[in-house]
Amino acid sequence: ISGEDARHIAKVLRVRPGDRLTLCNGAGTDFLCEVTSVSPDKTECRVLEAKPSVSEPGVRVTIYAAVTKGDRMDFLIQKAVELGVFRIVPVITGRCVFIPDEKSRKNRLKRWNRIAYEASKQSGRGIIPEVGDFIGFKDAVGEAAGAELALIAYEREESPRRMTLESCRFGEVSLLTGPEGGFEEREVELATAAGMVPVSLGKRILRAETAPLAALAAIMYSSGNM
Ligand code: SAM
Repeated sequence: ISGEDARHIAKVLRVRPGDRLTLCNGAGTDFLCEVTSVSPDKTECRVLEAKPSVSEPGVRVTIYAAVTKGDRMDFLIQKAVELGVFRIVPVITGRCVFIPDEKSRKNRLKRWNRIAYEASKQSGRGIIPEVGDFIGFKDAVGEAAGAELALIAYEREESPRRMTLESCRFGEVSLLTGPEGGFEEREVELATAAGMVPVSLGKRILRAETAPLAALAAIMYSSGNM
């Protein structure tokens, strides 16, 4: 282990040779290791055991979140990683207030993936969820609708969809949520026509950064991952 992690291990965790560490390869495998040498530049370990990461949920949830203002996406990304999200895709919908230019697009993606990386380490994830590139609403529906269960969070949905979540076990779920101003009617129609299931998250209006987290927690709970 080198670089920033080596410095953290030596200076912050104050690890010593003989100590044991669990290292993760970011692709779903944990390695129980014994430290053989430590320095701020490099730490060396001997692998004792390799096993699937226990922290990874059995369901892969991809959140297609309409881009929100300010640092709300930072909050959404950090909390979604803690809750077990598999991937996050920022979506530009008709009522999005923030539309990135080339420079801000690169900077945002770099920052958001850094936040996902830090949150993965803090929460002990077995993978580092990716924050994908910005996509438009139609492309988001095209991708999201291919999941085993494809949900669009819509506050005007009346029918009780609770059974949708609890009656089946899914391997892959996609969740599309809107911006501060909500989805346009035609966007909901397009998503529904593509086979996405409109779901209510209760009788209260949740903020754009709250809705995906509430839905993600419900999916984790109802699929036995919480
Ligand atoms: N149309 C909302 C209003 O009347 O204030 C504004 C949109 S809400 C702030 C942002 C997004 O969160 C919505 O587009 C939807 O995807 C989701 N959302 C918020 N509350 C919800 C609820 N009770 N049920 C389902 N989705 C909800």
